[in-house]
Amino acid sequence: MSQYPNSYYATSLSQQKDDLPTLIDDHECDLCVIGGGFSGLSTAIEAAERGLKVILLEQNIIGWGASGRNGGQIWNDVAWGIDGIEKKYGLKHAMQLWNISQAAVDLIDERIKSFNIECDKKSGGIHAATSLSKFKEYENDLKYKLKTYNYDKLEVLDKAKADHEIGSSLYYGGILDRGAGHLHPLKYAIGLMNAALSLGVKVYENSPAKTILQNINDIEVLIENGKVNAKKIAVCCNAYIEGLNLGIENKVMPCETYIVCTEPLNIDLQKNILPNDYCVSDTNFDLNYYRLSESKRMIFGGAVGYSLKNVEGLKKRTKKQLNRVFPQLKNIKVDYIWGGLIAITVNRVPDIGMINEKIFYAQGFSGHGVAFTGIAGKILAENIVSGKTSEMEAFEKIKHRNFPGGRLFRMPLLVTISAMQRMMDIFNV
Ligand SMILES: Cc1cc2nc3c(=O)[nH]c(=O)nc-3n(C[C@H](O)[C@H](O)[C@H](O)COP(=O)(O)OP(=O)(O)OC[C@H]3O[C@@H](n4cnc5c(N)ncnc54)[C@H](O)[C@@H]3O)c2cc1C
Repeated sequence: MSQYPNSYYATSLSQQKDDLPTLIDDHECDLCVIGGGFSGLSTAIEAAERGLKVILLEQNIIGWGASGRNGGQIWNDVAWGIDGIEKKYGLKHAMQLWNISQAAVDLIDERIKSFNIECDKKSGGIHAATSLSKFKEYENDLKYKLKTYNYDKLEVLDKAKADHEIGSSLYYGGILDRGAGHLHPLKYAIGLMNAALSLGVKVYENSPAKTILQNINDIEVLIENGKVNAKKIAVCCNAYIEGLNLGIENKVMPCETYIVCTEPLNIDLQKNILPNDYCVSDTNFDLNYYRLSESKRMIFGGAVGYSLKNVEGLKKRTKKQLNRVFPQLKNIKVDYIWGGLIAITVNRVPDIGMINEKIFYAQGFSGHGVAFTGIAGKILAENIVSGKTSEMEAFEKIKHRNFPGGRLFRMPLLVTISAMQRMMDIFNV
């Protein structure tokens, strides 16, 4: 039986999660969802709400992948940045994706409310600038988003304000986004799982889909000791996709990012560090992303690795990055450290689409998946039930290139890019 990695999230669940059965024998359904993270759960919920008979297969346990281990930070926009989309695809297209990303953020609050999910959700996040030029970029970004997208939730934080809100003197300033926020991702994932179950979705754990066969009338999903015959399937495996040979694997690059979680901060430290409980993401290429937990532990993510070989080195680097932002936490004990895989696409826009009329997929959230996965599930379900929507078309127009050379070559390529970018961060370029 699979278990969660030894993370703070796994040990701070308010309610233990029920074990769910492994799929055996033959089953039939309208939709088989593969992958039990935010994307798969969202697709299953939305499809069940539209009256479909849904089976969800998770190879480990629900929330075992990135969804149960992430930084919990909720941001709108795509990782590429809406200005990039606008330049390449025009304002109308960018506006549509911007609105989808806003709806993604709102959907989290809607689900928390309608399914009564307790997941320590907090509002507000800061983008912190690690150079003066980046701070200027943020200021311009605020004006541009207000004027072009009518987004009025941003506020400039000059250096003094940023120092105060973060409790670190490292930054040149920042932008507070009142629309951003954070939550306990594993509690949220389990909340979504309970929601799916309450809607009649059959959820199976420890049930890896091994082979997908396309028949004339349906799709056959083979599991070790059973199979599912489904009218349609949704593949929601993200960075953990392997061996399904659907032709979408090379469009994402799995890369490993690490999080450290400290012991609870004492009252004095709490007064000065993140006093308003915002989350922070800074502008390093290996971005530092951090926030306080409900129990006032520092949850700090940073180091990105493209090769899983040097795990110890990555762990050390994360703690070093934490010390650099918060020297006052130098002696604080790290109680947990864990890593997980994010899936990035070449252009850092999610890859949401269909392989044919029966096979749908969503992947490549490029570090913005806490919010975006929810809406991706909704888009998949709408298309599965009602045919192609304009939202799906908006994603299909964004062309995703394969990472060159397959998995073996992707790693060294990105290590090189990442090393160059890290050097630029060090020299403040
Ligand atoms: C350490 C870390 C920190 C992050 N921080 C943030 C953050 O702060 N904010 C943010 O927006 N995003 C963040 N992300 C990214 C975010 O977590 C992901 O974008 C999101 O969770 C993706 O959800 P998913 O459901 O698509 O994939 P996952 O949650 O990875 O789920 C995929 C699931 O598919 C299952 N699976 C794979 N193959 C099969 C198969 N053959 N059969 C059955 N099941 C299968 C896997 O076991 C897995 O559980 C972070 C990611 C990591 C790893």
